Amino acid sequence: MRTQWDSSQWSLLQELFPICRSLTGNGVRATLSILKREVPELTIREIASGTRVFDWTVPDEWNIRGAFLEGPDGKVVDFKDNNLHVVGYSEPVDAVLDLDALWPHLYSLESQPDAIPYVTSYYERRWGFCLTHKQKMSLRPGKYRAVIDSTLQPGSLTYADCVLPGKSDREILFSTYVCHPSLANDNLSGPVVAVALLKWLKTLNRQWTYRFVFVPETIGAIAYLQQHQALLTKTLAGFVLTCVGDDGPFSYLPSRAENTLADKAILNLLQHEVDTFKTYSYLDRGSDERQYCSPGIDLPVATLMRSKYGTFPEYHTSLDNLNYVTENGLTGSFSLFQKLISVLENNLPCQTTMPCEPQLGKRQLYNTLSQKGSSQRARTLLNFLAYCDGHHTLLDIAQKLNLSAHSLIEVRQLALDHSLVTRPFQNGL
Ligand SMILES: [Zn+2]
Repeated sequence: MRTQWDSSQWSLLQELFPICRSLTGNGVRATLSILKREVPELTIREIASGTRVFDWTVPDEWNIRGAFLEGPDGKVVDFKDNNLHVVGYSEPVDAVLDLDALWPHLYSLESQPDAIPYVTSYYERRWGFCLTHKQKMSLRPGKYRAVIDSTLQPGSLTYADCVLPGKSDREILFSTYVCHPSLANDNLSGPVVAVALLKWLKTLNRQWTYRFVFVPETIGAIAYLQQHQALLTKTLAGFVLTCVGDDGPFSYLPSRAENTLADKAILNLLQHEVDTFKTYSYLDRGSDERQYCSPGIDLPVATLMRSKYGTFPEYHTSLDNLNYVTENGLTGSFSLFQKLISVLENNLPCQTTMPCEPQLGKRQLYNTLSQKGSSQRARTLLNFLAYCDGHHTLLDIAQKLNLSAHSLIEVRQLALDHSLVTRPFQNGL
């Protein structure tokens, strides 16, 4: 069983990249079935169009087979070349029109003249083409034929989830989305890192139960929450996996409550395990934390990402492609999430087995802790034990000691191995 990041994760990203995903439709199904091939425990589910989910209604299903725009100088754009060329959820069209009439259906970015923008119109029926601003400005008057071979009709919304049980039924939630077409950092980095984490988690003897959710953003998360409210009361901590594939510094977007277990774990990691990071406000939210943290749901869900969605120029354009995400970026994110999970797995409070300080010397703990820096390490062990009162978690102690909780895992293990502490049976979180 593969337990670490390897080049097959990069191949998975490449395989998923060309698929035209949207809120609904065969692109989402194709994506989820590839993810299920990687993680057979995944369950793929459908919710019928028209189903009411809280204040929303599951929309009609959109599928597209092809599209092109042709003008006096020949082919302008073709869906085959880049699926961003078509406005997501475009209704079908086959029309010949003058440039003036076509103009309102063309979308480009004046500020990024070489990028094709990603545009959608989920909740209002329209059709349109996206192209570079350079190309748009080069179009000359004349007759244009616009063809979009799509269907927009009742069907269903597709999503997937997967639950890996642990010793406790308290859950750690990871949620990511599968609704963007050929966009790499925002979107595919999330599902690809999720798959790598699932494969790794399957090899662990897990303390917690892990729930992974793959939904179309917003409507999918709302539908999932509507259908799983009871289960989600077990959530100890949750994370939205988004924008984890570029080389930018890590970013933290807190939960609405700001001080949940998810927030504490992320902040400790960022403060002690990476050189630099950015902190945002919950007011900067934009992904599915909007639903998970909303009043009435109020889950402890925070976001650890690299360059935050909306902040990098490549965002929602054809420049967010396989050149923008890097293997280093993805691997670094995967490693940090592994550390985060390890911290949560070891976070249960411990209780010392004897009153007063233990005598480390007779247990050879000074030597065991190595020659160089052994007194500092012994001091860390004694400091760790000083808070093992059955109430302070690993993260609590790490905060007291101003140390990385991840680095304290081995100290905790040493204390357990030498029976200096016992682990309480109850879920002490
Ligand atoms: Zn997006």
